Amino acid sequence: MERSRNWLIGTPMVSENASHLTEHLPSGLAAVEEAVARACREARRDRASVTLIAVSKTFDAEAIVPVIAAGRRVFGENRVQEAKAKWPELMSTYSDISLHLIGPLQSNKTREAVALFDAIHSVDRPSLCEALAREFRSQARRPQLFVQLNTGEEPQKAGIAPTEADSFIASCREKYGLEISGLMCIPPVNDAPAPYFALTAKIAARNGLTNLSMGMSADFAVAIQMGATHVRVGSAIFGHRG
Ligand SMILES: *Cc1c(COP(=O)(O)O)cnc(C)c1O
Repeated sequence: MERSRNWLIGTPMVSENASHLTEHLPSGLAAVEEAVARACREARRDRASVTLIAVSKTFDAEAIVPVIAAGRRVFGENRVQEAKAKWPELMSTYSDISLHLIGPLQSNKTREAVALFDAIHSVDRPSLCEALAREFRSQARRPQLFVQLNTGEEPQKAGIAPTEADSFIASCREKYGLEISGLMCIPPVNDAPAPYFALTAKIAARNGLTNLSMGMSADFAVAIQMGATHVRVGSAIFGHRG
């Protein structure tokens, strides 16, 4: 009895969720930053080895500015037109923003995408490689490129099948002269993500790729454990998308 009372009293009353109560902070950001730092510690990884991409799709400048003010500089958008409508003005105010395209890229939007984005996570077909190579010749910009894998081989999802990944990466490099920085994946929603993250990491390693864009609001901690270098977190930072 005495023992268990002492044990209870001795337990520090630290609430992991205390930051949810901090009303003035952008909803969720502090909790996400804390969880990213914790996942890095648990995986014995340097916090600087993981880039937190704040996915601001569907949110307007009013929602984004507090997140910039809180120190975030890397943002993700999934549509070129939407990003074009809201980011140039924000970027003229905050000069050190890095903008990542995480959604599908139509070849006819490649010019605008190369002009606006610092990274493209959705390289998924030869025709896009060709369009990117063309833009790289005409624009003095080289966004960081990620090949998107369809790790679950889901018919409705974009991305290269795992079995095609090695030859696709080779053709990006040899045929199109593109420097590929890493791989991106979105595991099937209803499965445990770890095996898909592991598969992505394995394909990256054997192709000499060091960057892994994997992990979203629901699973970024697991992704960090499995080696993610870029986590794409939207709703956990900004709240639910309307
Ligand atoms: C929307 C989106 C995210 C962020 O999703 P959340 O569950 O809101 O964190 C990450 N990656 C891609 C490709 C997305 O389209």
